[in-house]
Amino acid sequence: MTAQTKTDAWTADRDHLLHPYTDFSTFREEGSQVIESASGMHVIDSEGNKLLDGIGGLWCVNIGHGRKEMAETIAEQVMKMQYYNPFGHSTNVPASMLGAKLAELAPGDLNHVYYTCGGSTANDAAIRLVHFYFDQLGQHRKKKIISRANAYHGATYVAASLTGIHGTKMGFDRIGEDFIHHVSAANLYEKPDGWSDADYCDYLVREFDARIQQLGPDNVAAFIAEPIMGAGGVLVAPDGYHRRMWEVCQKYDMLYIADEVVTAFGRLGEWFASDALYDYQPDIMVCAKGLSSGYIPLGATLLSTRVYDVIAQPQCEGGVLSMGLTYFGHPVACAAALKNIEIMERENILEHVREVGPYLQESAKSLMNLPIVGDVRGSHLMLGVDLVKDKGTKEAIGDGVGEKIFQGCLKRGVIVRPVGDRMIVSPPLIISKEECDEIVAAISGAIKDYLADEGA
Ligand code: PMP
Repeated sequence: MTAQTKTDAWTADRDHLLHPYTDFSTFREEGSQVIESASGMHVIDSEGNKLLDGIGGLWCVNIGHGRKEMAETIAEQVMKMQYYNPFGHSTNVPASMLGAKLAELAPGDLNHVYYTCGGSTANDAAIRLVHFYFDQLGQHRKKKIISRANAYHGATYVAASLTGIHGTKMGFDRIGEDFIHHVSAANLYEKPDGWSDADYCDYLVREFDARIQQLGPDNVAAFIAEPIMGAGGVLVAPDGYHRRMWEVCQKYDMLYIADEVVTAFGRLGEWFASDALYDYQPDIMVCAKGLSSGYIPLGATLLSTRVYDVIAQPQCEGGVLSMGLTYFGHPVACAAALKNIEIMERENILEHVREVGPYLQESAKSLMNLPIVGDVRGSHLMLGVDLVKDKGTKEAIGDGVGEKIFQGCLKRGVIVRPVGDRMIVSPPLIISKEECDEIVAAISGAIKDYLADEGA
């Protein structure tokens, strides 16, 4: 990190905040980089460094930073009606209109929305609703959920248990893991030598089917998967994988939950990736992040009509759906999301991603020429770069090299995200081709500096 001047904010942060993913071994000394302002593709820190935001805040600032129109919409809604209780039969205008808009954009009959405060709470809601659904059907044992190794589904207790990234669970108790099971990630980079992609896909589908058999189809309620695994390493599944996993779900009367927290709202050039890119129709779709472009927290769990109709049966246990979040359908957040979607439509941002996304992927391939880059992969504006000790063995590089490359990029005025031995790129969707080149050049330069320091 650039050495930060010890401003009041720097000191207050160090003394009072417990950050996600704080490294306590360095935090007291180094503190945090304070980001003070942001505009378009850039953020500016308290030192005045203008940095190209190669990670879209955290896969979320899809329309770019600092849009005046967003500020005005938010202010107008605050002046008009900033909050009123959404329980029972009470609603507000932005929540209703956003519900209709989401139903219009979402594929198939995903026509019903449960609003939350972000992705984790939307995944928690999905699981509670799956359990409720099968209870309504009288299938009280059908409760187990199958997730995947390396998946990321959030930080609340159930979402963290759905998550399959080992490091995110260290030191924590594991609630829910009696009903949550994990199968392998679809990781083409680590598929066994000599296997074709199709062999590997067959293997993953067979493994899934066998796990359901082992747990008992009457006990397994749902499968949850990201269309492209994000934090788990930008893992793009083999062709046909999602469709075939979905078919297995159909066979066993399980629900398919697509966690589109990262992939929805344009990151892959579509409103939602499941149906448009991978040809399957989820029963439940979870979104957040790009839904409001991070201007204000918001998540949504979309339900198909089939699922909704069962949940909404009047004889439901207790007579009501007693699952209430104070900020369900928060009017200011929903107004911001509606404006965010309007901007994406007006500026043809999806089409832009369809053009610039493949350009980023192609330009990043050049990184493969570097001796410690084992794999470069992704789709559109999701990119992952694996750092390895040895390209042959694919052994991860370790030793905090990811962090060093991150620092090297910062020196070049570019933010990328180190996740262990991977560099992740997920810029705002308004990125230009020149800015894509800038990101790739920064990663390349930072790696070359590292190699030079190592005398490699
Ligand atoms: N699902 C996925 C796929 C995510 O990437 C994330 C966050 N990175 C979440 C869920 C959790 O979302 P949130 O942090 O908004 O709770």
